[in-house]
Amino acid sequence: MKTHARVAVIGGGVVGVSTLYHLAVKGWTDAVLLERAELTAGSTWHAAGLLPLFNMSYTVGQLHKYSVDLYKRLPAETGQDVSFHVTGNLRLATCRDRMDEYQKYCGTANTIGVPFQVIGPKQVRELWPLVELGDDAGTPKIVGALYHPDDGHIAPADLTMALRKGARSRGAEIQEQTEVIAVKRTSSGEWHLTTNKGDIVAEHVVCATGNYARQTGRMFGLNVPSIPVEHQYIVYDESPELKAYRKSGGRELAVLRESDQSYYLREERMGWILGPYESGAPARFADGVPDWFGKSLFEGDLERLLPHVEAAQRRVPSLATCGIKDIVNGPIAYTPDGSPLIGPAWGARNLWLNEGHSFGITAAGGSGWQLAEWIVEGEPGIDMMAVDPRRYGPYTSKRYVVQKNEETYRNVFVIHFPDEERPDARPAKTSPVYDKLARMGAVFGQRYGWERANWFAPAGVPAKDRWSFRRSNYFEHVGNEALRLRQHVGVIDLTPFTKHEVTGPGAESWLDGLVANKVPTKIGRIALCHALTRRGGIRSEFTITKIADQHFYVVSAGAAERYDSDYLQQALPPDGSVALRNITMSRGCFVVAGPRSRDVLAKLVDAPLDNAAFPWLTGQVAEVGLATDVYLLRVNFVGALGWELHFPIEYAHHLFDSLFAAGAEFNIGMAGMRAMESLRLEKSYRMWGSDLTPDYTPYEAGLDRFVRLNKGAFIGKEALEKQLKAGVPHRFITFEVHGVTDADPLGNEPLFDLKGNIVGRATAGYYGHALQKSLGLGYVKPEFATVGGAIEIEILGERKRATVLVDSPYDPENKELRA
Ligand SMILES: Cc1cc2nc3c(=O)[nH]c(=O)nc-3n(C[C@H](O)[C@H](O)[C@H](O)COP(=O)(O)OP(=O)(O)OC[C@H]3O[C@@H](n4cnc5c(N)ncnc54)[C@H](O)[C@@H]3O)c2cc1C
Repeated sequence: MKTHARVAVIGGGVVGVSTLYHLAVKGWTDAVLLERAELTAGSTWHAAGLLPLFNMSYTVGQLHKYSVDLYKRLPAETGQDVSFHVTGNLRLATCRDRMDEYQKYCGTANTIGVPFQVIGPKQVRELWPLVELGDDAGTPKIVGALYHPDDGHIAPADLTMALRKGARSRGAEIQEQTEVIAVKRTSSGEWHLTTNKGDIVAEHVVCATGNYARQTGRMFGLNVPSIPVEHQYIVYDESPELKAYRKSGGRELAVLRESDQSYYLREERMGWILGPYESGAPARFADGVPDWFGKSLFEGDLERLLPHVEAAQRRVPSLATCGIKDIVNGPIAYTPDGSPLIGPAWGARNLWLNEGHSFGITAAGGSGWQLAEWIVEGEPGIDMMAVDPRRYGPYTSKRYVVQKNEETYRNVFVIHFPDEERPDARPAKTSPVYDKLARMGAVFGQRYGWERANWFAPAGVPAKDRWSFRRSNYFEHVGNEALRLRQHVGVIDLTPFTKHEVTGPGAESWLDGLVANKVPTKIGRIALCHALTRRGGIRSEFTITKIADQHFYVVSAGAAERYDSDYLQQALPPDGSVALRNITMSRGCFVVAGPRSRDVLAKLVDAPLDNAAFPWLTGQVAEVGLATDVYLLRVNFVGALGWELHFPIEYAHHLFDSLFAAGAEFNIGMAGMRAMESLRLEKSYRMWGSDLTPDYTPYEAGLDRFVRLNKGAFIGKEALEKQLKAGVPHRFITFEVHGVTDADPLGNEPLFDLKGNIVGRATAGYYGHALQKSLGLGYVKPEFATVGGAIEIEILGERKRATVLVDSPYDPENKELRA
């Protein structure tokens, strides 16, 4: 075995081998894979081998598409057959919400370039003659289906062997029966891995250990939020009806998914494989995989599967006459949101994760592709935030992960409503005023473990969402909250914001080298600053306030706490001239905004709040009521006169009560996240994570005024200069959609020219309650970005005409927020 490698991959499942393969393809052949048993010994050997292209996530959809394309060409490249049966994939729908989900997905599929068809019951029958269309008496009636002609199933072991061949033929090494048992850092910063076969030192390590992710993580000091759940499928004997159909010339049937009954069904040797996603499947190995497990399976639990078996038999009656040959019950890695962990680990350089795969056969190709790119090039080629391991934080306790993973598992087939908020493991992290908000009717959602009020149900209205792809029960109330901020004054609790304090003699120049804008030089000034990738894409958005000499307050998205904190920490200069402190938990934040916000605050603050003394985009350290050391920042994300109060957390109740007492005469009230969404869209404020991603540069995002090419060097500068010379390929637009009655854009819809060609994609959308317009944000080719220009958008399968609006269609001159 090698004693030194540039990169060591731990784990020889399909994901680890794919990572090795892609590293080798990119020229990193000084690479070794270490597998404790033999290749595929983890979950890979017993996987059903389905390759569903369907995924609601723009990122995961791209990874799956890459995989399917790769698997088709691997046999020719490696000489190893992978038994890819391109049967197609049929997802049935038995209700309108399900069709809405498929139609919403189609938008994403269109922007990714995944071929699909939305079909009716008649075509379902043509594609799948053995299916019952249903009559709603015993079997729900099929109202339509989504058909992917390009996917199907594959032999996971053969696929792994093909990837192995491809990696080895390029010079990468694979060591089986080699278990990594201990890890330490060398003084030169490399990884020293101890295995049962000897030691190896590697510059980079990739963990791809499937069900072992938690114990592997522990060796590196990481709490990896991946715990497997039991997953079963039933293997049936031969089916006479299927045999007869195939004998009569019928082609292999598409993989069938009856989403509303939570199962899949595919052919296997003239019989069937039926895979339900049932309730009650337990998480396993929360404390690690025991030694006795090895290449084993759990005992099958048919009882748990019965409701799905019966539903499948009603849909495919011939199934009832087939005997059951086997039940395969194995551990399947899960994460709380069901997406894998692909990318850098936190708190350690050159440590990478490719863990938590519940659709690992499908995702292996794409995850290896992007991870190899990240390792070799320093960044991935596409926006990977949806799978970035740093999207989780320290809140992922063992119990949290167990509860969430079990919940995610049993919800694999539920309708993925855009406003869905699942109940398990909640509330976990709460703002100090959580109970007060609950008493005010708050309907909470969860993000990054935090409870956030999405909207407030007025007295007499049930404090509960009715999830939908369309305008729903909260629409009117969200509207009233938004209008309160436009007309009176409202409060939004944004305590979850990520907050850092940067101090020291090197603070200013260090920050300046990280972001494209000029960091404020005058005490009290605030600047919106973007940290870019080396390709010039937007990685982070920071609101930076200069609090005092050598003291900056840096605020970013709540969900980016670990993502930003880790980035900042790793970028610190080694000379000790900059101190970085994550103070997210020690400061709360209330937004007080609306035309009467000054009147409210004036009762609590002695310092003058007029424009001369306290202009827009400035901040002061102030006393507010009894609270001291409050950072009063004259900025907000709703585009109104207003302040953000960033206060020592112990003053939360006092400030909350004081604001409401002072604001009573001005009709003060709370507003939630959905009202904020409506308000920010009216101002074309770009949201990090949806509108601002590494896929687009600040020039594409129309943030030119936040880029200072004439200052010193900063990350991404060269790429921006290049882009300016070559031409900016997309432009950010705000648009109004016409003829909307109940389904506003939500993001990820394709945008078309009037001839029907795709010319861009929407990144966000909602209804602007003050403008009374259905609004969208998105990126288009520059020639379609002209104000007044006509485009089209597809919303839930319907083409709608849209008009490009001026940036910030509500109060374009910012008169209100400068009032
Ligand atoms: C019943 C069932 C059906 C499934 N069906 C499908 C399907 O149809 N389609 C699909 O896409 N997915 C399916 N899956 C999921 C799929 O099996 C997994 O997502 C995939 O196999 C994960 O691959 P992996 O390489 O990440 O992990 P694994 O295959 O588990 O590989 C991890 C490897 O790491 C090794 N390892 C761990 N620790 C160490 C160490 N310290 N040193 C060295 N080696 C170590 C292990 O021995 C193991 O071989 C199914 C899963 C189950 C349980």
